Amino acid sequence: MSGELRFVNQKHKPIKIGSVEVGKDFLIVAGPCAVESEEQLLKTARFVKQYGAHLLRANVFKPRTSPYSFQGLGKEGLEIVKRVKDEVRMPVVIEVLHPRDVEEVCKVADVLQIGARNMQNFPLLEEVGKTDKPVILKRGFCATIREWLCAAEYIMKEGNFKVILCERGIRTFVRETRFTLDLASVVVVKKKSKLPVIVDPSHAAGLSDLVIPLAKAAKAVGSDGIMVEVHPNPSTALSDARQQLNFEMFERLMRELND
Ligand code: PEP
Ligand code: MN
Repeated sequence: MSGELRFVNQKHKPIKIGSVEVGKDFLIVAGPCAVESEEQLLKTARFVKQYGAHLLRANVFKPRTSPYSFQGLGKEGLEIVKRVKDEVRMPVVIEVLHPRDVEEVCKVADVLQIGARNMQNFPLLEEVGKTDKPVILKRGFCATIREWLCAAEYIMKEGNFKVILCERGIRTFVRETRFTLDLASVVVVKKKSKLPVIVDPSHAAGLSDLVIPLAKAAKAVGSDGIMVEVHPNPSTALSDARQQLNFEMFERLMRELND
């Protein structure tokens, strides 16, 4: 295995996102599942920034299981993200689904996201590898740790060493949660690579009341940060309504993480 892992094992320059140095500071990524309107994103951005988030989730292309579900605002959504980012002065992470969109997304995004469903989309990995943006690489929900680290190699072999891994749960026989959060993977990838790794308890659990305990557990096992979904009114969300934190819960999460 080690022969095929070249770049993930090397020490690279620290990744800076705004004023935060990933790996040194505990990175807080927060924001809605999807951008739904300017008002929704602006409200959320202001709130999560005030309570300590460093990076705003601002997804406009949504990879949905059903093609008939809300797919995101698409390119028009990028205009909203740009205005909100300038107004709130906060870096944004945007998921990119297709190699042809990478260039346009890079005009607005400070950080790119590769979603779980695209972890082995090799042309997409190579395309983001040609950019100079940090990339949050989510673990595919059926991916082994070796496959995840090899996906990081696809990005890094193109010259982009700013890869942040994100554990977001894997598929198991457990039905009470949406996925099973594999916290051991955080410890394992830290042994097998020098890459920073953050945890997304929102998509792992699928239920908002599990997010705070799982986020604290992620910090306890040594993750370099968390990514959580926050919405001004989760029950009306156009995607992932059951797992998004409301503002009060986000405030509590931030308080308890710092206890
Ligand atoms: C997301 O973070 O918006 C997302 C779709 O998550 P995942 O790719 O982990 O399912
Ligand atoms: Mn979501």
